[in-house]
Amino acid sequence: QVKRSGRHGIRFFTSAMQQRAARHLQLVNALRYAIERDQLHVLYQPQVALRERAIIGAEALLRWETPELGKVSPAEFIPAAEESGLIQSIGAWVLREAVRQAVRWRSEGLPPVTMAVNLSAVQFRNTDLPKLITRILQEEGLPAEYLELELTEAVAANDPQGAIAMMNKLHERGVRMSIDDFGTGFSSLSHLKKFMAYKLKIDQSFVRDITTDAEDRAIVNAIIQMARSLGMRTIAEGVETVEQLSYLHEHLCDEIQGYYFSRPVTATAFRQLLLDGAARAFNP
Ligand code: C2E
Ligand code: MG
Ligand code: MG
Ligand code: MG
Repeated sequence: QVKRSGRHGIRFFTSAMQQRAARHLQLVNALRYAIERDQLHVLYQPQVALRERAIIGAEALLRWETPELGKVSPAEFIPAAEESGLIQSIGAWVLREAVRQAVRWRSEGLPPVTMAVNLSAVQFRNTDLPKLITRILQEEGLPAEYLELELTEAVAANDPQGAIAMMNKLHERGVRMSIDDFGTGFSSLSHLKKFMAYKLKIDQSFVRDITTDAEDRAIVNAIIQMARSLGMRTIAEGVETVEQLSYLHEHLCDEIQGYYFSRPVTATAFRQLLLDGAARAFNP
């Protein structure tokens, strides 16, 4: 097969690799200055409790825009930040920004929400992480139980012993942990119960066809049942329709997050959502 593709095939392959390497380099070089040039900002997506019909959380989602590159998706720049080590400083910046925002909403007397922040594998392996978290919480003045850290199931499953140890340390400091993209990461059930997770985030790939696909329903129902018996909450990601919402509500999923209720929005727009309350999501 290699022969059949011949010189052109090889040249094409090489140039595709070169292009990828060049883009990577371009991103890393630009990311170095992202913080000081004020190119990063955070959007917030509501997490809605179904029984209470209330917004009880916000997930902080990082955005990056530069004059040269325009908007770059986190799916592209987060990996570049991880490989270059820049994720340590960028991740710390997001944590502080999100915690600061949570404090601002509290001081305005808005209904209390938990602030959920995504952690990358690189941050999670850093033994200084618990210290950093505690310092940010103290300096900004947020009670630890209002911060939730999201770790993907893939990262937790990749090094279960390390994950259990770190999650224990963070748990001791009063911070909540949730397992992101749950259902895609193959963690063993024996590890899962040791993870000290407060919440499982059911991956959006299972939610998409939940009203039509019997296998996706079976998976979602199993995750909800298992979480309930292990004393964990569940949140479904990527909920876009009222049919998905109703199904999840009937099957005792605790929370939803998705475009049906709201896209990720600016802090100012989120504030308005908090003022409006979640009721309108259930009476469209
Ligand atoms: P994630 O943590 O699983 O975040 C959920 C993603 O799903 C977000 O994409 C969100 O905008 C999107 N989403 C929410 N509701 C819906 C919906 O109803 N339909 C669809 N199709 N999508 C929905 P986003 O913001 O592009 O982020 C992508 C990923 O990038 C995140 O996945 C997370 O893994 C990573 N990421 C984002 N911000 C950060 C950060 O500050 N730190 C780290 N380490 N990773 C981050
Ligand atoms: Mg997340
Ligand atoms: Mg997710
Ligand atoms: Mg994801």
